[in-house]
Amino acid sequence: MGTLRQHLIRLLGKAPMDLCDLAAALGIREAEAAEHLQHVTRTLRSQGRTLKVVPAHCRQCGHAFTKRTRFTRPGRCPRCRSNRIEGAKYFIATQRR
Ligand SMILES: [Zn+2]
Repeated sequence: MGTLRQHLIRLLGKAPMDLCDLAAALGIREAEAAEHLQHVTRTLRSQGRTLKVVPAHCRQCGHAFTKRTRFTRPGRCPRCRSNRIEGAKYFIATQRR
């Protein structure tokens, strides 16, 4: 799966993408994309880079899931109970240290 993760890293270096975008781009399921992201986070960290996250938010009331650390889509808004959740987007900052 090395090449798939390299592809994933290239995609995230270009534009912020959510799980749905990534799954479609890589031809895998969202749950698999989430697992790959988990690994990619570690790979990036060992390279001194970080995976940035634009938190998921509720389309109904705007509640942001800022404390969420797992790579899965929240099912329901804790504030208004809506299930119209915009998934978190992931990207890799390109600046060099
Ligand atoms: Zn809400």
